[in-house]
This record gives sequence, structure tokens and C-alpha cells, in this order.
Amino acid sequence: MKADFEYIVLGLGGFGSAAAYWLARRAGTEVLGLEQFELGHVRGESQDHSRIIRLSYHTPGYVELAKFAYQAWAELERDSGDQVVLRTGGLDIGPRQSAIPLSSYSNSMDAAGVRYERLDAGEIMRRWPQWRLRDDIHGLFQEHSGIAMAARGNATHVRMAREHGATLRERAPVESIRPNDGEVEVRTEDATYRCRRLVVTAGAWSNRALASVGIELPLRVTKEQVTYFASQQLKEFGPERFPIWIWMDDPCFYGFPAFGEAGPKVGQDAGGKETTGDTRTFDPDVEALDRVVRFLERHLPGALGPIIYTKTCLYTLTPDRDFVLDVLPRHPEIAVAIGGGHGFKFASLIGQILSDLSMDGRSPRDLTPFRIDRPILQLKDPPRNYMV
Ligand SMILES: Cc1cc2nc3c(=O)[nH]c(=O)nc-3n(C[C@H](O)[C@H](O)[C@H](O)COP(=O)(O)OP(=O)(O)OC[C@H]3O[C@@H](n4cnc5c(N)ncnc54)[C@H](O)[C@@H]3O)c2cc1C
Repeated sequence: MKADFEYIVLGLGGFGSAAAYWLARRAGTEVLGLEQFELGHVRGESQDHSRIIRLSYHTPGYVELAKFAYQAWAELERDSGDQVVLRTGGLDIGPRQSAIPLSSYSNSMDAAGVRYERLDAGEIMRRWPQWRLRDDIHGLFQEHSGIAMAARGNATHVRMAREHGATLRERAPVESIRPNDGEVEVRTEDATYRCRRLVVTAGAWSNRALASVGIELPLRVTKEQVTYFASQQLKEFGPERFPIWIWMDDPCFYGFPAFGEAGPKVGQDAGGKETTGDTRTFDPDVEALDRVVRFLERHLPGALGPIIYTKTCLYTLTPDRDFVLDVLPRHPEIAVAIGGGHGFKFASLIGQILSDLSMDGRSPRDLTPFRIDRPILQLKDPPRNYMV
């Protein structure tokens, strides 16, 4: 097999499969992707039926980026013929004095020219009688929110990367990377490859992948979970009738209409315990599940029903929850992306950006907030704020 490639992608989860796709659109057979497990495995961050996609974000920069995220998915849909985004509308909802103020979301959408509606508790319950809300609850409704079909999106990126000529190898863990004279040497157990540009999309294993170039970021990997409930009121929770939602408080809960399984899905954001990619278990956290059930009893009782299953999954959290999306300052031939536990909606766009950084040395998007050398990432034990 060929050992020299223009581009290698290390890690073929959500971001890596997207990077392989966008690189292969321009460089075809000059793209190699290496995945340590099988393609579509469930040990990382990206494999479930659904992830929330939304324009509603806490900074204008993310809102602008989210506009391009929709465009990137739409381009993948055009190229592949597969639908990967489903619009349901989305509700940001919570107490007026909440830990995550809705004003930063409305201000950001105002600044980015995105339309939304402000709703009080009565109006929310009139439109979606599934909710039980006190008077001090309010919300923002944005019609473009919906579901990024995660597993399907990944499979489509993989299929289309291959159609455009990329070689994608599974069960090929990368053991080391070594920049050398303008190239990067990439070693697996049974082969040594060389490339001109390397993309590292290793999720929870990012620090291990970057150790051989002397990088250690203050990342925290947590085991998170979502639960599908066999609601007895399924008709009320269909995607045409019930939007995705985020409860903007601490704890922060979020949920989906029935999609992919016969019942709605609910989880708590950043409610999981610290772990690592290698030592994590797949056992549900009973206390975290109990928090979700108690929330639903109070606010969305009709969503409850027998548990279909609880699915565990990893977050790779930066201390400020902003992405890492940059080239290494001392090795610009290596680009990196880390998602901060909210990146899937951007997966195809992040793949496109990584391909632009690798091929053109720059991206038309503003990547300043995502620099790998930002001050908080230089601290060994930085302050952490996940409620954004
Ligand atoms: C429960 C849950 C809910 C979420 N909800 C949302 C949501 O609603 N909306 C949203 O936008 N985002 C959401 N996210 C976050 C989003 O899913 C992640 O940010 C995104 O999937 C990260 O993708 P990734 O490619 O970085 O990681 P992964 O998909 O884990 O990919 C990393 C890959 O690298 C491989 N790898 C690592 N090291 C090596 C090596 N040495 N050699 C070869 N391969 C290697 C791994 O095996 C893995 O396949 C959620 C995450 C979880 C866990």
C-alpha cells in the first residue's frame, strides 16, 4: 500500500470523517484517514441518532459560525443525496433568573441578524402543552434549530470521502507522529506513513496523540449520557410536533423529539464524571439518570415512560468550552480540532475548515476564539466554566 500522502487524518470520528471528506473533495487519492477502532464505533463522542443543531448561541461569533455549519451540511447533502439535518425548531427555556442567561443568546442572535421569538410560560404551554411551567419561566424559539443526524452524517462523510478517492483504514491506531523536514511521519503498529499536512481529530485521546510534539492541553474528559424513554404519548413527541429544547440553568438539561428510537431523548449537559477514553465504562450513571427523571416529572411528564436505553458518550471539555481549531504554532503542518462537548453540529464545517487550513494555510472563518495558544489553555489547572 502507498505510504506517502499529501494529507493524513488521525482519528475518524465526527470531525475526522468530515475532514477526510472535505480534503478528498479537493485532493482525492492523496488523503489517508486512520482510525484506532472500527468506523462508526461507540467509544468516542459522535455516535448516536441525533445531536442538536441551532443558530442560537451565546456569542455572535458562534451564531455566525453556525450559519456556515448549516451550509456545510447542505453541501454534503447535495453531494451525497443523503439527508443529514432535520429541522424541528428549537426552544431555549429556563427561569428568568437562570445560571445561563437567555439574554446572551438573544443579544447574539440580534447581532447576527437571526430572527427568533420571545415566549412566556403561558405561550410556550399553549404551543406545546407537553410542558408544565411556572410563571417565571420564559423562552426563545428559533425555527431553524433541529437535529443533526450524527451516525448518519458520519457514515455519509465516510462514504463520500471514499467516493472522492480517500483511503480510510480502521483498527489502525497511530502510535506516534513526528514532524521532520516539512513532512510528518505517522506511525501505526504495522506501517509508517508520511504526509505534507496532518489533521489531528482524536477527541478524548487528543493529548495522547499530541504528546509526541510536546503538547498537553488542560482538557477534561467526562462520561455523559442520554436516555430514550418509551413515552406513552408518542404522538405528542414526534419531530413535526415537538422541537428540540435546552433548559438554560444549572443543571442544564436538553432533549429531542422521538427520532431514531420509539421515544424522546433527554440528557443533562456536562453532568457526567471525569474519566478517560481508555478507562471509561459503558454503565449508566444512576444518579444522573435520576436527575433527568425528576426534571421530567416536574416539567415534561408526558415524555416519561419505560427506559428504552441509556447511552453513554464522552465530552472532551476545554476549560472555557470553546473549541480548539488551529494549526500548531511550532508545527503549522499539523492542524487540530477539539469540540468542547458541543461540536457535532459544526462537524462538517470543522472538516471543511481543517481542509482549508491544511491546503491553503488559512480559513475564511474567524478562528481567533479557538486558538490553541490562548491564555487559558496555557494554564495547568485553569478555572473551568461549562455553563455557557
Ligand atoms: C451525550 C452527548 C451529547 C452531545 N450533544 C451534542 C449536541 O446536541 N450538539 C452538538 O453539537 N454536539 C453535541 N455533543 C458533542 C459532540 O458530539 C462532540 O463535540 C463531537 O462529536 C466531537 O467529535 P470528535 O471527532 O472530536 O470526537 P470522536 O467522534 O470521539 O472522534 C475521535 C476519534 O479519534 C480516534 N482516535 C483517537 N486517537 C487515535 C489514534 N491514536 N489513532 C487513530 N485514531 C484515534 C477515536 O477512536 C475516535 O474515533 C454531544 C456529545 C455527547 C457525548
